[in-house]
Amino acid sequence: MPDKKRIYMDYNATTPLRPEVKAAMIEDLEIFGNASSMHAAGRLAHGRVEEARNAVARLFGASPREIIFTSGGSESNNTIFQTIRRLGSDASGKVLPSGRTEIITTAIEHPCVLNSAAFLQSLGFRVTFLPVDEYGKIKMDTLEDALGERTLLVSVMMANNEIGTIQDIAAISKKAKAAGAWMHTDAVQAVGKIPVAVDELGVDYLTMSAHKIYGPKGIGALYVRDKAPLFPLIHGGHQEDGFRAGTYNNIGIFGLGKAAEYALADLEAYGKTIAPLRTLLRDGLLEKVPNIKINGHPRDVLPNTLNVSFPGAEGESILLSMDMMGIEASTGSACASGSLEPSHVLMAIGSGPEWAHGSIRFSLGWGITEGDVRYTVDAIAPIVSRLRAISSVQV
Ligand SMILES: *Cc1c(COP(=O)(O)O)cnc(C)c1O
Repeated sequence: MPDKKRIYMDYNATTPLRPEVKAAMIEDLEIFGNASSMHAAGRLAHGRVEEARNAVARLFGASPREIIFTSGGSESNNTIFQTIRRLGSDASGKVLPSGRTEIITTAIEHPCVLNSAAFLQSLGFRVTFLPVDEYGKIKMDTLEDALGERTLLVSVMMANNEIGTIQDIAAISKKAKAAGAWMHTDAVQAVGKIPVAVDELGVDYLTMSAHKIYGPKGIGALYVRDKAPLFPLIHGGHQEDGFRAGTYNNIGIFGLGKAAEYALADLEAYGKTIAPLRTLLRDGLLEKVPNIKINGHPRDVLPNTLNVSFPGAEGESILLSMDMMGIEASTGSACASGSLEPSHVLMAIGSGPEWAHGSIRFSLGWGITEGDVRYTVDAIAPIVSRLRAISSVQV
């Protein structure tokens, strides 16, 4: 081992605070005022909150009025499904017998979308979970078949957290809008990695989270296009024009704003720096480990995400051995780890259980070096061959 440092390759699960973000947050920690108060302490906090809102709006090419702060990606997504529930129900909460009550999403969404959609399904909404092809792209003809005059919402993630596949959101939005539906995208994994401009994407709603872009946890935002409907998930005071009650999370919001600033400034450098490291890791593994498969789209893929199946070796066992070598990655999604179910994303792209169970998601980010990647490749090759030997003995 070259040194004792740990090699963190799980940036899609969460990122460390960027040093500049951390420094700015520490400096602003004393700004305690309630951003809704009229006095100087409140005005100071309010000014900073609005600066952060401007930074998030700039990142998406949106207007600051269209940005609402939430506690993160899960809350932003739940707010959209809560809104759809209200739009498709009568005052007593019963799903409307006619009118728009159909939802289209995909089989590979993050659990906070999948489970929100399943909840609405349990209330009587009709939900279509679009299938994806072997690379994780939705098939446009299945979208066209599912769209109709009763479609209320189309919600398709911009980039997948497990395999990194990027969807053609602009084309999907066009079809959704032509059918008169509202269009939402969960862009949590896309933000800071590829350009995310709401007008080019044509979306009505967009979800982001700070802790996936080197900001703090427990804070995120929702983009809501001017005049698109919205209902609050959290009722209370008049914060965020009544759309999201609760005293402003000053320090979280300041951190989010700083992280958004850097995400925009560094977008080009991110791709130029991280994509070659991904290529190095991919090619190294292909060279040193026999019989593996790269999951995800060969071209339309996040620059930092490499999902690899090592059939014959158990994913959790690979992870444990990697962890002992100082390398941190994950099997699919953090939310699913610990469960024996194979990843729903890998199953959706048609991986057999044997391939899905032996899969590792490497997600790279700022701080990873070529040396880290080479060390990782050299460490994994013997781990996989050892585990394969054990499992063939057991069979
Ligand atoms: C992490 C993640 C979320 C959840 O965001 P939180 O801020 O952790 O609630 C939602 N969608 C995707 C695609 C994610 O990767």
